[in-house]
Amino acid sequence: MSYVFEAPRRPTAEVLGGGEFPVRRIFCIGKNYVDHVREMGGDPKSDPPVFFTKPADAIVPTGSAIPYPPSTANFHYEGELVIALKSGGRDLKTREEAGALIYGQAAGCDLTRRDLQAAAKKAGAPWDTAKAFDYSAPIGPIARIEDFPPDLFDDARLILAVNGVEKQNASLRSMIWNVPEIIIALSRLFELKAGDLIFTGTPEGVGPLARGDRVEVSIGPLPSLEFAIEEQ
Ligand code: MN
Repeated sequence: MSYVFEAPRRPTAEVLGGGEFPVRRIFCIGKNYVDHVREMGGDPKSDPPVFFTKPADAIVPTGSAIPYPPSTANFHYEGELVIALKSGGRDLKTREEAGALIYGQAAGCDLTRRDLQAAAKKAGAPWDTAKAFDYSAPIGPIARIEDFPPDLFDDARLILAVNGVEKQNASLRSMIWNVPEIIIALSRLFELKAGDLIFTGTPEGVGPLARGDRVEVSIGPLPSLEFAIEEQ
């Protein structure tokens, strides 16, 4: 095999305690918390979940400063629990089958060009420009499932703060589709593989970011995610 130019390095995410998680794909679920569906003008009872993707190299490690993205005047944060898969499968049936795929969990942020998303929704057009742009997937260190078992998260709250001011604060229990249900649903659409990440949706309280802002996402005992928007 000889590449015609040097192949880019595979994107990775930091693992708590050492090592790098090789990122294959990034799946995201939309409309997964009742109060967020309402704040976006939807009906949580009738709207099915929406899946979309981001490129693997949209990953941004904690501690980074990222540029304010081009072509938007309404750049939003969405704090989310991220699930990292160590193995794959398709057409899964049970919670146990789904749970067996999980390597670990992390705090993440699904950055969104909200104005482009609104235009896409109105036009019935794809969401790629709204969701899948450069630096759109900051993620904190991944905590291995054996160190932080899912039971630990039953009562966990997802809290996102901008410049130290709390903007989102919700229980993971208020997810419409829980983690195994999301994995099962995705496995019926895609053959899941080791290295896939799943952003599991954001609760209510989404809002805009400005140049110079500092964002922190914390979820129960998981290591927090911190990043900033560059001044220029
Ligand atoms: Mn989201």
